[in-house]
Amino acid sequence: MYDPLLDESLASNAPYPSSYWADVAGVPPKDDGQLNKDITVDVAIIGAGYTGLSTALHLARDHGIKATVLEANRTAWGASGRNAGFILKSSGRKPYASMQSQWGEEVMRGIYQEMCAGVDTVKSLIAEGIDCDPQESGYIRVAHKPDMLKSLLATAALQKKMFGYDIQEITREQLHQNYMADNNAYGAIRYQDGFGINPLKLAWGYQKLAQKAGVTIHCDTSVEKCYQESSHKTTQQSQTTQILHTPSGIVKAKKVVIATNGYSAKNFHPLIKSKSLPVLSQIIVTQPLTPAQLAACNFLTSNVIMDTRALKYYYRKLPDNRILFGGRGAITGKNAADPYYANRLLAVLKTSFPALGSLRYDYAWSGWLCMSLDDMPHVYQNEQQSVFYAMGYCGSGVSFSVQAGKRLAQKVAGVTVPNLPIYQTPLATFPFAPLRRVGQWGYFQYGKIKDRWL
Ligand SMILES: Cc1cc2nc3c(=O)[nH]c(=O)nc-3n(C[C@H](O)[C@H](O)[C@H](O)COP(=O)(O)OP(=O)(O)OC[C@H]3O[C@@H](n4cnc5c(N)ncnc54)[C@H](O)[C@@H]3O)c2cc1C
Repeated sequence: MYDPLLDESLASNAPYPSSYWADVAGVPPKDDGQLNKDITVDVAIIGAGYTGLSTALHLARDHGIKATVLEANRTAWGASGRNAGFILKSSGRKPYASMQSQWGEEVMRGIYQEMCAGVDTVKSLIAEGIDCDPQESGYIRVAHKPDMLKSLLATAALQKKMFGYDIQEITREQLHQNYMADNNAYGAIRYQDGFGINPLKLAWGYQKLAQKAGVTIHCDTSVEKCYQESSHKTTQQSQTTQILHTPSGIVKAKKVVIATNGYSAKNFHPLIKSKSLPVLSQIIVTQPLTPAQLAACNFLTSNVIMDTRALKYYYRKLPDNRILFGGRGAITGKNAADPYYANRLLAVLKTSFPALGSLRYDYAWSGWLCMSLDDMPHVYQNEQQSVFYAMGYCGSGVSFSVQAGKRLAQKVAGVTVPNLPIYQTPLATFPFAPLRRVGQWGYFQYGKIKDRWL
């Protein structure tokens, strides 16, 4: 599998992974095909995931700028078509309490507002007619140890006080009786407003809306090189053009948006070099549960569910009664397809629901998350305001990437965006960048010990 930390380019026109989503989503919408000539555009966007599509959509709708999207493979071929489909009011991994102590209450509230706006924007776009199988609302965070319930309740108390957030506290008994009898859960908190969707259908819906608004989307068009050329008109005036090389055409653009997140190839652009850590997340989707299996687990809920481990597991019941179960994957792309990782998830699922002893999985796939050094996404640009990016969602970007795209569109159009660190500061460079994988391995070892013993 493509490994963004090691590979300098990614494949072109690769098929979707054999995921559950690709199997049930139906026929993809048509795009504008591979770019096969040289073109000059105002704005070129690299990557047709949620970030790229949202930037293009908002540029066209809100600012009258019809961008050209260049995608190496196909729409949502990256994380946007592979994720678990949890729509959550959050991005990054930084807790609100540490935002408050680092930046103060106003900034913390400002970031919370942006997370809320992300979910609102996704909901309003879905309401325009995107058929993406939304499920009932509810996001359950389960304590994987009795002690963790205390910390969940403290988080809930802070969020209730700060944001008036509607959060329900659930005992182990109530959880088992009213939601699902997860053997590994010692109580939970439940947010009323998260929900599950089919992520690939969602992306295809964004694609159609963007195309309707006048956006051009060239799939099978990998950007191999992207650099700046300066032309000196007079001694005072110099103009810069961004040059993008693709296999069958060169694009000249006034501005470029990098929307490649966890799929950004090694050394792709100096603006994002060594600024993220791509980490694999693995998903399995089981066979459909029979009525007897559902009853044995009392699996009543279709809420989206995540636990409190350092190395988190997440799951949800899909509309056809299969269980999607996810967690960490291999460390390198080379090992991504090793069935060990899918089998490990199945084994953990069975410790949560021992009645599912004979259950198998029908689908297994993985995809790259994009971790940032400060655990927050960043939407930023170069000094000349000609190259922009949004990335670093740390595994939680289904809703916020859409808000990031909206803010990116504003930046590209020269509109002021909120004065928040996520919009006003660049992604930090990883120290000892070549050793990022060693750090990740160390974190996995620490996580295993913490989750088991601490
Ligand atoms: C297994 C998994 C589960 C997840 N579950 C959730 C979840 O439930 N909830 C949640 O909020 N988040 C989740 N996430 C994270 C979420 O999917 C991402 O944050 C989000 O999809 C990022 O969107 P994006 O458009 O920025 O990047 P991507 O969707 O990764 O898109 C990047 C695109 O850029 C293209 N590209 C890269 N380089 C080039 C190039 N040189 N030229 C042209 N094209 C290029 C790639 O082909 C790719 O299609 C999950 C991620 C994974 C992998």
